[in-house]
Amino acid sequence: MPQPKTVSADLRDPGGAAARSRDLTKIYGKGETQIVALDSVSVEFARGRFTAIMGPSGSGKSTLMHCMAGLDSLSAGSAWIGDTELSGLGDRPLTQLRRDKVGFVFQAFNLLPTLSALENITLPIDLARRKPDREWLEEVVEAVGLAERLRHRPAQLSGGQQQRVAVARALAGRPEIIFADEPTGNLDSRSGGEVLGFLQSSVRTLGQTVVMVTHDPVAASYADRVVFLADGQLTDELASPTPETVLDRMRRFDPKRQPS
Ligand code: ADP
Repeated sequence: MPQPKTVSADLRDPGGAAARSRDLTKIYGKGETQIVALDSVSVEFARGRFTAIMGPSGSGKSTLMHCMAGLDSLSAGSAWIGDTELSGLGDRPLTQLRRDKVGFVFQAFNLLPTLSALENITLPIDLARRKPDREWLEEVVEAVGLAERLRHRPAQLSGGQQQRVAVARALAGRPEIIFADEPTGNLDSRSGGEVLGFLQSSVRTLGQTVVMVTHDPVAASYADRVVFLADGQLTDELASPTPETVLDRMRRFDPKRQPS
């Protein structure tokens, strides 16, 4: 098995990071039942880039995302969104930071069934009583490619269309960073491709920053960069991935373990 590599991850230039961690450790439980889900992870997610986090089931992908997005606390180490260190924040500033600076896309689309697609997209802005940036919103709505269906309710849309609405909702507030956790997990490969294409174009055309957790080498190949986790540690990274190079890297790390 190759030795785990130190992932440099551009820590030399923290100013350019939309989010970063330093020696991030997360331990669940106590005593004999304790699980080290993340073991001193230092990583940086550059602005305007699409990064995928890959690794076998249980390797710590979701925990890393949750800790870096301010959804879960850290046991040790630090994490920043932009210039703001998360561990120093109380509940209210943390909630505000998540609301204003972070967009989320989950496997379940989590759209409100009684609202139209457009109302779902603007809901977080409306709830935050923020003035929408009309020009940006128009760009996002155009990019989502659902012009004909913006007045439809979620139930009248396909799974892929619903998830594109969820991505547009995450984009609408123009967050510092979007975290997507297995966004295509509930979709067939064609719809999944549409959602991944939209995430990719939000980075390339709209300049967003996206970090996506996935176990799927095809999904990871839409990213600019893939970082690999195993047993709670960062082990490797790959630039300009293809499904083949991602799969090869996963097998090389542990030939016995198929991606799950
Ligand atoms: P992945 O997303 O790569 O499948 P996770 O981040 O979900 O991995 O989990 C990493 C490790 O932490 C696993 O061993 C998992 O069982 C454990 N874990 C995750 N969440 C909790 C929790 N809330 N309580 C206890 N253990 C957890």
